[in-house]
Amino acid sequence: MPICTKITTELKAFVDGELSQSLRANVERHVGECADCRRELAEIQKISSELKSLDTAVPRPELRNRILAQIAPIVEPERPRPKVPSGATDARLALAGAASALAPQGSLAM
Ligand SMILES: [Zn+2]
Repeated sequence: MPICTKITTELKAFVDGELSQSLRANVERHVGECADCRRELAEIQKISSELKSLDTAVPRPELRNRILAQIAPIVEPERPRPKVPSGATDARLALAGAASALAPQGSLAM
């Protein structure tokens, strides 16, 4: 495995402080010499710190309750539909759909 590939797979753990002393030293040495991996490291550090700031962005309880209150009507169980002979309704719906699909074109043609 090329050294850069090996280093970039370890950069995330490096940023998170999860590498052993010797691996850490390896990464530090390589990043000191390799501009590509240094850029990669800077990128990961940036993303990592952005993720940390997202973790702390918890909605206030009142906002959370307001959102949940708005969601509640949507997740309510569906009301039972009135029973109708399905064949007749489907045909009428199809006709209505066809008529409304044709209507705009008809008015444009005039
Ligand atoms: Zn490199």
